[in-house]
Amino acid sequence: MSIVHTTAAELAASIADGRLTSEEVTKAFLDRIAAVDGTVNAFLHVDAEGALAAARAVDADRASGKPLGPLAGVPVAVKDIVVTKGLPTTAGSKMLEGWVPPYDATIVERLKAAGMPILGKTNLDEFAMGSSTEYSAFGVTRNPWDLKRTPGGSGGGSSAAVAAGMAPLAIGTDTGGSIRQPGAVTGTVGGKPTYGANSRYGLIAFSSSLDTPGPVARTMLDAALLHEVIAGHDPKDSTSIPQDPSPVAAAARAGLNGDLSGVRLGVVEQFSAGDGAEPGVVAAYQAGVEALAKLGADVVEVSCPNFEYALPAYYLIAPSECSSNLARFDSVRYGLRIGDDGVRSLEEVMAATREAGFGPEVKRRIMLGTYALSSGYVDQFYGQAQKVRTLITRDFDNAFGQVDALISPTTPFTAFEFGSRTQDPYQMYLADLYTIPANLSGGPAVSVPVGLSDGLPVGLQVMAPTMRDDVAYRVGAALESTQDPRLSDQIPDVADKEL
Ligand code: GLN
Repeated sequence: MSIVHTTAAELAASIADGRLTSEEVTKAFLDRIAAVDGTVNAFLHVDAEGALAAARAVDADRASGKPLGPLAGVPVAVKDIVVTKGLPTTAGSKMLEGWVPPYDATIVERLKAAGMPILGKTNLDEFAMGSSTEYSAFGVTRNPWDLKRTPGGSGGGSSAAVAAGMAPLAIGTDTGGSIRQPGAVTGTVGGKPTYGANSRYGLIAFSSSLDTPGPVARTMLDAALLHEVIAGHDPKDSTSIPQDPSPVAAAARAGLNGDLSGVRLGVVEQFSAGDGAEPGVVAAYQAGVEALAKLGADVVEVSCPNFEYALPAYYLIAPSECSSNLARFDSVRYGLRIGDDGVRSLEEVMAATREAGFGPEVKRRIMLGTYALSSGYVDQFYGQAQKVRTLITRDFDNAFGQVDALISPTTPFTAFEFGSRTQDPYQMYLADLYTIPANLSGGPAVSVPVGLSDGLPVGLQVMAPTMRDDVAYRVGAALESTQDPRLSDQIPDVADKEL
């Protein structure tokens, strides 16, 4: 098997026992990027030199007998909303074009400390707002399974990079589904950890009470290993949980044994009836539910009556927080400045910069959020949405009194064609119908490839109680163990596909 077809866990083992060097491995992925990224456009910036230098440093450490971490020498791609010292970070926006951060996000420091070479920065919807990566200011990313279709979003670049064999692992961020939904439509694994279990320090903020960085991978074990590298308390993030992270790698290994006896799984009643989900998605999901039952899980139906209000609540809370967070892009402190001719006033320069620097979806959200927070309306919109958020958390609490984890399809539809959902924002928002509840409650959730519908990947979502990420990983890995060959091992041959 070629290096780019090998899992991160196997690559790490080969590097540790000297069958491969990190330099060889890193070079193989850089070669694959050079060969196919002209077509896929998953990367906004590739750092070949930096990645190879980091790889050689790990190889030298190994030669000198230094102890290596579980993913030492395995390269990783990072979504371009996570700041990287000395590497351009754009958040997919013209507003930050050319900006080179002076510091690393905590999770990037942890990747580096673990000896993981950083291949580059991946494409995304501008400021992570979107479900298709079509809102990037730097061109679309193509889905390796079908180049006429989007790879989902907002982290389409990270998922497409892994799906196309350009990176064994990648970092994403999930505010409403941006790790899990692209995972589902590219046939990769995507994990949204418990909110607060992973540091947000150095993530360019979209919606601070929801943003969560997490792993993108081809297998549950690989995702779990990466999850453990980045997880853990960070005093630089005031919402970081001062508690040891959940042991997800052990849980994934346990799940791979394929035994779920004694595990109770709840099918979310409100999400299983195919309320707008494509029939092919429902069929693949149902087959996954049956596979889980065959492994011994008790599958019961659980009602979460407030989940149907998750989408409208999210589209008040997230824009409200974004309207405040994005106020910092004011032409003074970062990035773009337009019209500073010594004649125009500060306000005029600010307005011209924000007009030129933000794309349509970001502007829509800033306006929506500003309106929802304006005096006279704040109780009616933002306050009401926060109440719904509490009710959704109670639905989860109630459900987890009956079952260990909840399952649903990850997203109602498979990868869609370019332009098919950009005309009507609501059609785009629907992509996150099933992923948003876990963001509103803060609990962990993973998307696991479950099958194909018309040749396109479908994902099954596992949601677990807060700080019980291990449960989601165990169930996801058990499902993965029923696939032979694993769906995620089919790396589409992009070069043969028509544009
Ligand atoms: N698609 C959702 C949105 O547009 C979620 C984005 C995300 O998770 N970053 O807001």
